[in-house]
Amino acid sequence: MLNLVGLGFVVLLAAMGAATVESTLTTILQIQSLLMLVLQLIALCLMHFDVCNSVQYDYYKYHPMHEIQSWMAQIKNEHPDVVTIMDYGKTYEHRTISLLKIGFDTGEKKKAIWMDCGIHAREWIAPAFCQYFVREILNAYKTDSKMQEMMKNMDFYVTPVLNMDGYIYSWEEERLWRKNRSPGPAGCACNGTDLNRNFDANWGTIGVSADCCSNIYCGSHPVSEPEAQAVTYFVGTRKEDFLCFLTIHSYGQLLLVPYGHPNFTASNYNELMEVGLAAAEAIWKVHGKNYTVGASPDVLYPNSGSSRDWARMQGIPLAYTFELRDNGTFGFELPENQIQPTCEEAYMGALHIITYAHDKTFSGAVATVAATLWTVLIAMGVTGSNSM
Ligand SMILES: [Zn+2]
Repeated sequence: MLNLVGLGFVVLLAAMGAATVESTLTTILQIQSLLMLVLQLIALCLMHFDVCNSVQYDYYKYHPMHEIQSWMAQIKNEHPDVVTIMDYGKTYEHRTISLLKIGFDTGEKKKAIWMDCGIHAREWIAPAFCQYFVREILNAYKTDSKMQEMMKNMDFYVTPVLNMDGYIYSWEEERLWRKNRSPGPAGCACNGTDLNRNFDANWGTIGVSADCCSNIYCGSHPVSEPEAQAVTYFVGTRKEDFLCFLTIHSYGQLLLVPYGHPNFTASNYNELMEVGLAAAEAIWKVHGKNYTVGASPDVLYPNSGSSRDWARMQGIPLAYTFELRDNGTFGFELPENQIQPTCEEAYMGALHIITYAHDKTFSGAVATVAATLWTVLIAMGVTGSNSM
């Protein structure tokens, strides 16, 4: 009897077991398809990050400071292999000034390209351009072998907004604010120094004002401002690495070469002009906009204490100021529908200068020609040791 009960129990267990195995199999299959779906979604996200982001970043709108900061973090998260964020200073109001460093980590000491935007608060198209530029080079390197080569040999240091305090002030208080936000000297009721008159380059000599209420107030002494100090220190301590220093402004459709002071001419002025004119042609080819190339006193007005002049005086060979669109119709308040064409054309101009800087330093063709020439000279017996 006990055995029968026992047998019945075993049969029942077996039946239950079969039912459990079947339902377990179904569950496993369900989990498996669920996992497949999750994996497919992850793959889709990796290929197209925007799919996972409910809000796609709009490069053709102007963005307030906090959105640009979120964008920087997003760019770093999307491209951890080539992008890092570097903090390199504080603004007067204690905001952290950051840049995006973009390039392959080769483990070697690399050459570098500098680009800063938004040194003047009201020139909103400039930060928009820095963001567009970053997106373009990060898209390009995946398929374009030239950009891959440049990102192996050089790092791009891009500061989307240098004058953060001023930029925020231009959003919240006064759209046409230009300077930073530091207080004037004792007895002066006005705030702000023109950061592009504050650098240590013939400081305070021409095209500036000593009146702290002026839009071109150059500060109490050279590099008195924390934002100018940050650039001076960061670039100054790596100056031999930088091939190129591009500082982005508006408006006027100009490519300005050093120097702002009419008494000084850059030692490579001809090269700066030649490369600048070719960049202007590259710009013109995109949407037919004319950019004028020249030293500031020749095509705009003389000035002193600019970051571009300071960079050239540090020995950085290719230093340019971009004055983006337009020619004065909208001025600093360039409508958003002009962001895209302005960025597209300026990108081609910047790319021309950067490619020139790269090829001059790294071009195998130039080295090959030199080596061939040397071989020919030896064969002809006209090298130094055989000279008559
Ligand atoms: Zn400017």
